[in-house]
Amino acid sequence: MTAYDYDIVIIGGGSGGFTSSALAKGLGKKILIIEKNKLGGECTWSGCVPSKALLKASETVQNLRTAQKFGIEINNIPEKFDGALEYTRNIIQKVYSGETPEIVKEHGIDVKFGDGEFLDSHTFILNGEKIRSRHFIISTGSSPKIIHFNGLENIDYLTNENIFELEKIPESLAVIGAGPIGIEMAQAFRRLGSEVTVIMKHDRILMNDDEEAAMAVMESLAEEGIKFIKADEISELKKENNNILIKIKTQNNTESVAAEKLMLSVGRVPNTKGLSLEKAGVEYSEKGIHVDNTMKTTTPNIYACGDVTGKYQFSHMAEYEAKIAVLNTVLPIKKKADYSSVPWCTFTDPELAHTGMTEEEAKEKHSGNIRVYKHNFKDTDRGKTDSVKSGFCKVICNKKGFILGAQVVGARAGEIIHGIQYLKTLKIPFYKAYTATHIYPTYYDAVKHTAKMCFLDRVSNNFFVKLIKIFKGDK
Ligand SMILES: Cc1cc2nc3c(=O)[nH]c(=O)nc-3n(C[C@H](O)[C@H](O)[C@H](O)COP(=O)(O)OP(=O)(O)OC[C@H]3O[C@@H](n4cnc5c(N)ncnc54)[C@H](O)[C@@H]3O)c2cc1C
Repeated sequence: MTAYDYDIVIIGGGSGGFTSSALAKGLGKKILIIEKNKLGGECTWSGCVPSKALLKASETVQNLRTAQKFGIEINNIPEKFDGALEYTRNIIQKVYSGETPEIVKEHGIDVKFGDGEFLDSHTFILNGEKIRSRHFIISTGSSPKIIHFNGLENIDYLTNENIFELEKIPESLAVIGAGPIGIEMAQAFRRLGSEVTVIMKHDRILMNDDEEAAMAVMESLAEEGIKFIKADEISELKKENNNILIKIKTQNNTESVAAEKLMLSVGRVPNTKGLSLEKAGVEYSEKGIHVDNTMKTTTPNIYACGDVTGKYQFSHMAEYEAKIAVLNTVLPIKKKADYSSVPWCTFTDPELAHTGMTEEEAKEKHSGNIRVYKHNFKDTDRGKTDSVKSGFCKVICNKKGFILGAQVVGARAGEIIHGIQYLKTLKIPFYKAYTATHIYPTYYDAVKHTAKMCFLDRVSNNFFVKLIKIFKGDK
């Protein structure tokens, strides 16, 4: 009889937990998922899925509002679109219907619910039951960070955990925080009928992104009527009539923003509380559980993946790390996580997709010895047919044409970046993309043009070409 009830117990049934359990089951392991709340995690209930559904609904409204520029006259467009919230909740249910405990169990994976804790590195106690496992994978995710601004205790504020439960689109919404979560919600609610103000700490939004790319998104959002205010300090929050009054200190002034609803999106905190990680020897800090590049914690049989590690907090990164964690529970030679080509996308309109380094990072790390190739969407024929005003593809390479980073701003940027991502991950020089035939007319033309620039750059810097030019007397 084995001393263990399971080969791997996975704590947390979200993006990381699902990927871990499916892969581990495929490898023939006996698996249990322990979930505190509902299977699916943040991505399904209060993250990727509802935010993308609400953005899609809001894009539909925007298409109605801007139909005139395509010669289409639409009259009497309502001011607010409460139905988008119900649509969003329906989509959540649709996604969840493929992730229920019954379905997971049908795949041979055990599921138990509750709020348990470690007793030691091989034992977890759940609802009074001691569960012994050879390995654990902790994938408990993260929660919205709450900054206790003066007066917050008297305010019914929103976070991503309750904003999708609203029944009505508010008259006005103030969003504190200008990261991807706040910015996506700002645009969705603006398009669905709210007056939106974003209160931000810096001069611009999306501080983890390339400055030029983030500014392009910010300008588009401002054109749609979103107001941006840089606040040095939020000095007070209070209720006034039916509004929330947000008092802020700006560089030379004090200002007040009044809004019916307030959303906080000021960061994330890892879900480590209550797990008694100390008893299992797992070290952590306020940033997350400490893991090495094999996703191993400070205890050899316990791994962690996803938001709880505090690294790149995206579903696809939780999945990536989950695969590494599972494989390392079985492989004798350990697989290592590589963070040099982490892609992400902020799904605003225009979308902002990113991989690798920003232009600023590349300049700094390569002492300015970089090549930057950029082409605007509006200069492609597809951009013209679609009356696109903004957006571009920017690829940053080293002198040999290998990709250091890329940013795509525009329609479907989150899809388009994958072509560049493949080249980067497979270490294929960017100029080779120019040898591929691209379908006309697509937004990919912008990628093709940047690849052409890289190709021509390479040709003109070729030793023999330079030699011929010297013989011909060309400069
Ligand atoms: C509004 C919003 C939009 C987002 N959009 C995107 C996007 O478009 N693309 C993208 O890639 N990422 C997006 N993200 C981020 C993405 O949701 C997370 O990175 C991802 O869900 C992390 O996966 P995870 O497995 O680490 O955690 P989760 O998916 O959150 O899963 C953690 C699970 O652990 C459970 N749990 C917590 N504590 C315990 C405990 N003590 N015991 C047992 N179970 C526990 C939780 O209930 C939860 O089910 C978005 C996030 C937000 C908030």
